[in-house]
Amino acid sequence: DMSGRTALVTGSTSGIGQAIAASFARAGADVVVNGRSRERVDATAETLRADTGGTVRGIAADIGTAEGAESLIAELPDVDVLVNNAGIFSATPVFEISDAEWSRFFEVNVLSGVRLARHYAPRMVERGWGRVIFISSESSIFIPTEMVHYGMTKTAQLSVARGMAQEVKGTGVTVNSVLPGPTLTPGVAEFISSRVGADVPFEEAERRFIAEERPSSLLGRLIRPEEVANLVLYAGSEAGSATTGAALRVDGGVAPS
Ligand code: NAD
Repeated sequence: DMSGRTALVTGSTSGIGQAIAASFARAGADVVVNGRSRERVDATAETLRADTGGTVRGIAADIGTAEGAESLIAELPDVDVLVNNAGIFSATPVFEISDAEWSRFFEVNVLSGVRLARHYAPRMVERGWGRVIFISSESSIFIPTEMVHYGMTKTAQLSVARGMAQEVKGTGVTVNSVLPGPTLTPGVAEFISSRVGADVPFEEAERRFIAEERPSSLLGRLIRPEEVANLVLYAGSEAGSATTGAALRVDGGVAPS
């Protein structure tokens, strides 16, 4: 039961973040959704209120910049649960990634979560309870081709989370990473259709994609956003009180390369 707890989920106007926000709202938390666009944030908050019957509000902020993080913090000075979910992805051959692109991936996927945790986590420590969760990826342990910049950020998140967990030990605050495998989000659906062919029915495309690109998967299908959200809710609730400094996989058993 998450009633009385405030949960901020960054980048929650679509995909995995939206599913995480929904699961915390269903569990009774006061949920704050975030994205860059005011319209999308408001629309998502409204949808989630209708779907879950929970308390959900939205704050628009580009958390990939220091100013964006500051404006979010100014509007929301305290949270009990911080889910660093916002992230960007692209498929680019490693020798074609520019300096600007390396930096942008680091800013959005890693530094955003560091900045927010730097503000929120010490206040959780003062109150003696808190949860910080980084949404990393299977791409931290198994780096598919043309995703080295993305994989770099997802690996960095593991180090950051483990380091933070060390520094808040014994305070009632836990810090963990959640590592989803390929998950059925709008972006991934598009990516798969472009790889396999838009004429192939999606179920078949999904099966083929997993067979060809994740042959070690024990699941044989994409992860559903709700399946990721279940694990995040565990780590973000009282149930997860003994789990800290952990890298929690929800990837259908893909083998590390
Ligand atoms: P998505 O593109 O569907 O959603 C990303 C969200 O982040 C969107 O709401 C977007 O608006 C927001 N966002 C991006 N940059 C932002 C910024 N600067 N400020 C505020 N919001 C911003 O992506 P998704 O697939 O749901 O991914 C969510 C997280 O899960 C990411 O960290 C991603 O790396 C991770 N992940 C995804 C998969 C997958 O297969 N989909 C697998 C493993 C890990």
